[in-house]
Amino acid sequence: MKTIKQHYRVDRREIAFLKFILEAYDGIAVLKTEDASQGVITAHIAPGCEKQFADVLQDLKKDIMIEPVQMNTKHLYLHTIGCQMNVYDSEQIAMRLAPLGYEQTASMDSADLIIINTCSVRAKAEQKAFSLLGRLARIKRNKRRLIIGVGGCVAQQEGEKILERMPCIDLVFGTQAIDRLPRLIQQIEDRRCRLVDVEMDEVQDIPEFLEGPRTESQVSKFVTIMRGCDNYCAYCVVPFVRGRETSREPESIIREIRILVENGVKEVTLLGQNVNSYGKKQRLCSFPELLAKINAIEGLLRIRFTTSHPKDLSPELIVAFRDFDKLCPHIHLPVQSGSDRILKRMNRKYTIDQYLDKVAKLRDTCTDIAITSDIIVGFPGETEADFEKTLELIKTVEYDGLFAFQYSDRPNAPSVKLPDKISEPLKRERLQTLLDLQEKFTKRKNKVLVGSTQWVLTDGLSKKQVSGQPDAGNRALQWTGRTPSNKIVNFYLDEHPAANQSLAGQLIGVRIDKAFSHSLFGKATGAEPSAGGLKGVENYAA
Ligand code: SAM
Ligand code: SF4
Repeated sequence: MKTIKQHYRVDRREIAFLKFILEAYDGIAVLKTEDASQGVITAHIAPGCEKQFADVLQDLKKDIMIEPVQMNTKHLYLHTIGCQMNVYDSEQIAMRLAPLGYEQTASMDSADLIIINTCSVRAKAEQKAFSLLGRLARIKRNKRRLIIGVGGCVAQQEGEKILERMPCIDLVFGTQAIDRLPRLIQQIEDRRCRLVDVEMDEVQDIPEFLEGPRTESQVSKFVTIMRGCDNYCAYCVVPFVRGRETSREPESIIREIRILVENGVKEVTLLGQNVNSYGKKQRLCSFPELLAKINAIEGLLRIRFTTSHPKDLSPELIVAFRDFDKLCPHIHLPVQSGSDRILKRMNRKYTIDQYLDKVAKLRDTCTDIAITSDIIVGFPGETEADFEKTLELIKTVEYDGLFAFQYSDRPNAPSVKLPDKISEPLKRERLQTLLDLQEKFTKRKNKVLVGSTQWVLTDGLSKKQVSGQPDAGNRALQWTGRTPSNKIVNFYLDEHPAANQSLAGQLIGVRIDKAFSHSLFGKATGAEPSAGGLKGVENYAA
């Protein structure tokens, strides 16, 4: 809900009294102290309550001094490093800081508050966070009142040490402190103090979703359905920085998705470290049962989810790909290694045979399913023979796409203590070999789609439209979107009946003319999607 902001100066001894009075008028406005020393407050008035609020003030003015003041909006620069969960958290951070008067800015230089939401899953992401924080120290030298906060996994992991190491930082807040953030920022504004909040609970409180303003880009949104992880894969820092696995109540998830759909969202991607174990610990519904509830939400076109741990991929989830018309035919099923010996050392709790069996069942049930995966190269003790097995697995599965990473030691992860570490040059070499191999399969999978008509959910205008590439000379508007199997399609309209409308959020039938390594290119056919075709990859090629 967007509130109306008004700023006032009052006798600072009266601020508490004002807040107390307004509580009696339940919900008409919330008062925030902007500057306690000057008695400056901001009233966030609920829409439709402006008149009632003005009457209350008029009454109070008889006894205390209240005068309106002009205030500059405060600017928040929010930088997100890492996974989709951090993207979701950052949006929620922005929503929570709006009532304090913060509006988001794309310029670091004009910010009054800078928040860096960090990731520590791999060493590179952590280095990126520290190098950015180093740059911020220089900005703060010329702007003393700037507040700098560090959140996310690095903040959780390093806590107080960040304040010791970097005098420019005012706040370190952990992965479970998002709900407490407004209070922490308020304290810093009022007292110019430095704070750390990295408290972690065994059962975490999942912050309630706050609705944001509608923007055209809101075609597809992430929805966090669970937090934390209990799997303790040997290489992974997540259980230590994101805490114990906790699922969100289904009602809260459904409510969030309904609000998103009312605001124009057409596709949701459900997020969890292992969605297959959703609800089990707290005896909520199962993940396929949750999918059934979401599938019934009117107006929603597509559902995706990530990530699925292979050990917990159930037969019920496999058939969900057949039974739920909105569930897109794509699964991200991280395998990590093609060697049983390495999988055991990684504590992944499945073998390659079991993994391949699940891949076969998925393809039997849903013939057009796209499968992607994560692979770590150079895990401690990985021999040439182990690495060869990973390459063999890639050839056997023929993934649609892969995210491959060089192993890095992470704090607290058990693999730190494992012997036989692989050298950096060898890890780099293995990564390149693997990526080169996968590139062939990615291209081949894309090429198969040339000549077919795909239902593309349009995100917005394509970046390529300005240059007219890759169709040189083509001056028609180019749009971008994704197929049900999650492949990026850039397309143009030409004589399409909808040529003058915005296509963002629309399902458009696109004939695929060209395939590249990481995208497809085609032309809108004007064909209308049928109910059955909403998610399916219907092939109209002869
Ligand atoms: N929960 C998901 C799962 O089980 O696959 C993914 C979690 S993690 C945020 C994303 C990916 O980062 C992992 O699948 C793994 O490939 C990679 N990763 C995690 N720890 C790593 C490490 N220490 N070194 C290199 N890659 C790592
Ligand atoms: Fe990390 Fe394993 Fe949990 Fe994924 S399942 S977050 S890799 S511990």
